[in-house]
Parts: sequence; structure tokens; C-alpha cells
Amino acid sequence: PARIIHKTDVVVIGAGQAGLAAAYWLQRLGLPAGTGFVVLDANPGPGGAWQHRWPTLTLSTVNGVHDLPGLAFADIVDPGQTEAKAAEAVPQYFGTYEEKFDLPVLRPVRVKVVCPRGERFRVETDGPSFSARGIVNATGTWENPNIPDIPGADSFRGQTLHSRDYRGPEEFAGKRVAIIGAGISAVQHLTEISKVAETLWITRRPPVFRDSDFTPDAGRAAVAMVEDRVRQGLVPGSVVSVTGIPWTPALREVEARGVLNPRSMFDRITETGLLWADGTHEAVDVILWATGFRSALDHLAPLNLREQNGGIIMAGRLATQVAKEPRVHLAGYGPSASTVGANRAGRAVASELLATLGIMQSPAA
Ligand code: FAD
Repeated sequence: PARIIHKTDVVVIGAGQAGLAAAYWLQRLGLPAGTGFVVLDANPGPGGAWQHRWPTLTLSTVNGVHDLPGLAFADIVDPGQTEAKAAEAVPQYFGTYEEKFDLPVLRPVRVKVVCPRGERFRVETDGPSFSARGIVNATGTWENPNIPDIPGADSFRGQTLHSRDYRGPEEFAGKRVAIIGAGISAVQHLTEISKVAETLWITRRPPVFRDSDFTPDAGRAAVAMVEDRVRQGLVPGSVVSVTGIPWTPALREVEARGVLNPRSMFDRITETGLLWADGTHEAVDVILWATGFRSALDHLAPLNLREQNGGIIMAGRLATQVAKEPRVHLAGYGPSASTVGANRAGRAVASELLATLGIMQSPAA
């Protein structure tokens, strides 16, 4: 028998902040759930990648989770609960959100590949297949941890892990732990692990600390920089990484303990530790890479969106639209890769895509 292929106008891939914000606006602009759009999400429950964040990441240690359109985070999760785990609070918020707006999220459904089929796209998943006229890709970065390729890495006999696998400091008690990275995750790992273990902090570039509260102007400048990159088709830097590390009371306490001494990047990994070009060797038990994530876009490979340098030339009001394939939007990519950016992108994504598909006359202002 022929396989059943579900026909719809738009498939949204991913139900994180970016996918839900786009779904909200698709619905608001008149697209019916089901025949108009569906949201496919690989995770077992609501929350996007937040459901996997390490248990020590709390509402007091995140930068801030921006509201989704139409329902405030604070209406669902008491902002006074500073010690609530982000991995529980955000899924609770997203779950309530999906229900309140009756969003057609199908899960767990993992998109394996999206193929061009003339006027349509074929979306193959580990479950049913879909045929759509437009795609909103909102798959985030969590599935694609970045670990630099360092000579000798395979020979290391200790433990190697990425932030993605970090579950808190306890397992490192009494060990010697190298933490690599210049971002907020690295500093949070250092803060926690240095209380129970000896730590080495290693960064490729000197970390940038920020004294003042993060101003809206500085935020806009950081986003504008990333937006400029993707409009030129360069690989985006992370918005969160260019905002700097805030001096919190917890960080001042770490500094006072003398563990906030970044060292330059090593050149080799040995069986027992790290080797620098000048011959310095440091024995370590654990190498923890806090070196960030990259966009998870492999399932879009048949669409040939990438330029030779690996980047994708982006267009549209908030740079979410793929220039050479305007029926595909990347939400949560580049300038929209933050909760505030992903939220803002939702409306532009929905209105521009519906205009491109001829479902709506012109993008909403
Ligand atoms: P995600 O939340 O990653 O959601 C993507 C969804 O797509 C997931 O549910 C995933 O299962 C699904 N998916 C992926 N691939 C497929 C597939 N092939 N088929 C089907 N589904 C798929 N930003 C802030 O603004 N403030 C913060 O405090 C902050 N803290 C952060 C802390 C950490 C540790 C990290 C890693 C990021 C942080 N960010 C923060 C960034 C922020 O989380 C994201 O930019 C934002 O949540 C946007 O999410 P998203 O919707 O793009 O992706």
C-alpha cells in the first residue's frame, strides 16, 4: 500500500522558544492547525532543549528566559522561586503554553531529512511523512555540541565530557578538572566544581567580563553584529557568547577563592593531561569542554542552503529567511538564537512565510 503522507502548508521543526513563537503567529495570522501547519518535535515532552539543561542551572543562574507571545513566564512560574531548576520551570511554561493556544505539536517526532519536491517539500521523520509548501526550521543547537579537534584527544585515559553532559559538580569531587571555554557555561561549571575539586580554566580568547548590568543598547549591538554576519552568509557567532560574563556575587566569591585564572589554550592532549607548546604539561583527570553548540541543520542538507564557507545567506526583516530558498525560514539561528531573539523572530517568520506562499498578501508590520 502507498505510504500515507500528511499534506499541510507549513511544517515547523522544533518546539523550543523559536518554534513555539512561530507557531503562535502562524495560528494568529489565520493558518489552521493540521491542514495549515504542524509542529514536529523530537523531544519526549515540552520545553525544547531546556528540559535537558544541567540540574544546577536554576532561574537565578540563567540569563533570563524571555516570554513567549501571549503568555508571560511569570504568570506560570513564580519568579520568586529563584532556586527552581530551569529544566523543570521552562518545560512547565512551554507545556502550559502549548495547551493554552492549542498548538498542534506532534512528539516525539524526529525529522530525518527535508527534500525538495518542486512546489513542495517532503519531510521524512522517524514516524509519518509530511508534504509542505514552507518550512520553519527551529531545531536549536543542543543536538550539536561543539568540541574542537585537538591532536591526541583519543589517547586521553581520563574522562572527557561536554557541558551538554554536565550533571553537577559531585562526580568530580577530589579530582583535577580542566574546564575549557570563555563563556557563561564555563564560568558556571568553574564556580561549582572548584568547590569540590581542583580546577584549571582554559580559554582560547581572554574571557570578557561585564561590570554593569547588560544594557539594551549593548544587547542590540551584539545582535546586530551576528545579524550582519548571517546576511553576508558567514557562519553566525553565538549571541549569548558576545554578551560577556556578568560579575555576579557568586563570581566575586570565586575570584576571591583564587580560581578565576584563565590560561591559554593547550596544543595537545596526552594520555594523562594537557600539553602546551612551551613544554608545560598539566595532569588532569577530567576534560570538560564548555565550548558551545552549533546549529543542528544536517536534516536540511538536500536543500543545499549552505555556501562553500559553510554559512547560509540570510534575508528578511530579522534575517530568518534563507535568501536562495525563501520558503525556508531558520528561526533561532544567528541573531534570533536567544530566548528574546527567538520570540521576536516568530512574527516575522510567520508573516514573511505566509506572504511568500501567497497565503497572506504582504508581511504584517
Ligand atoms: P531549542 O530550545 O533547542 O529547541 C529546539 C527543539 O527542536 C528541541 O525540542 C529539539 O528536540 C527539536 N529538534 C531538534 N532537531 C530536531 C529534528 N531533527 N526533528 C524534530 N525536532 C528536532 N538564552 C537566553 O535568552 N537566556 C538564557 O539564560 C540562556 N541560557 C542558556 C543556557 C544554556 C546552557 C544554553 C545552551 C543556551 C542558553 N540560551 C539562553 C540560549 C537559548 O536557550 C536558545 O537560544 C533559545 O532557547 C532558543 O531555542 P530554540 O527554540 O532555538 O531551540
